Amino acid sequence: MTDETNGRDEFDGPASPDHEPSASVEQAARRGEGEERLDIFEGVRGQDGNPVLPVQLKQGDMFAFSCHKGISCWNKCCHGADVIVTPMDMLRLSRHFGIRPVEFLDRYCYQAQWEKAGLPVAKLRMTGDDGSGPCQFVDDEKGCTVYENRPVTCRYYPLGLAAIKLKGQEGKDNFNFLVKESHCKGHDESKLQSVSQFQKEQGTDQYDQVNAGWIDILMKASSWASIGGPQGREIAPKTQGMFYMVSTDIDAFRRFVFETRFLEIYDIEKETIEVLKTNDAVLLTLGFDWLKNVIFGEPTISMNESVLKEAIAARREEFGAG
Ligand code: SF4
Ligand code: SF4
Repeated sequence: MTDETNGRDEFDGPASPDHEPSASVEQAARRGEGEERLDIFEGVRGQDGNPVLPVQLKQGDMFAFSCHKGISCWNKCCHGADVIVTPMDMLRLSRHFGIRPVEFLDRYCYQAQWEKAGLPVAKLRMTGDDGSGPCQFVDDEKGCTVYENRPVTCRYYPLGLAAIKLKGQEGKDNFNFLVKESHCKGHDESKLQSVSQFQKEQGTDQYDQVNAGWIDILMKASSWASIGGPQGREIAPKTQGMFYMVSTDIDAFRRFVFETRFLEIYDIEKETIEVLKTNDAVLLTLGFDWLKNVIFGEPTISMNESVLKEAIAARREEFGAG
């Protein structure tokens, strides 16, 4: 992603009353908004056309599964895998290698489009010309060499994570599903566990917390896609670039916040500003709140009172209201 596409040097405050959805578009979206389901982590790793048997599960539901060295399918799921690198993965994996996220992105990832939401996401690059080779981090003997910081998609496997929004419901509900791919022999093991026990063991909770804003945006954008996108139009390439920047390159977003008019335009408490200087996870939260405001016109971040007054005065003048 270049400076040209993410536009981080050109910021002049995109949030304005222009970004509020018009009543008609809002109503159209609500009319078009049926039951929406977004598969966030699909739980499918094989590329060999194996039949997949997804089973929807609640937190307390039990399932039999165990993955361990010595199992006949050891590492099979780490070949040609479709692994999304979420914002939290980017922070953890780059720290694992002692590099900054942008370097991790360049070395190990590629940019893909999440078609349903019309937004770009980073994925882990597999080896081989067609990407069907082993993951760059798998070792025949040891298995995953980044295990303690492995991506959340890998932590969830063989579970998938989906968000569902029912018609007329404000919020969304997350649920899991179990994916049985025939190459994975872990399903034949006798270890029984509930979904919540498995997630605790895999440490997915802290990932879900930090990724919450990112998931919200993907979910909302997918939901609006039925009427052509937020405000009835596709998300602009520049805004897509900003979404990708916040998701993958937290240092670029920090420069964007501290080296443009961002802090003049938005009303952010002094103590929070200090935290944002060094805390990547908190900065991510701000980034996704800001993007929700830019993309959907949500009141997730407030403008400085003086800037807001200026904007209102400018609009009044434009419409001759004096
Ligand atoms: S990150 Fe680890 S668990 Fe995930 S695909 Fe690569 S080697 Fe496998
Ligand atoms: S049991 Fe499943 S998850 Fe574990 S190595 Fe085998 S294919 Fe991968």
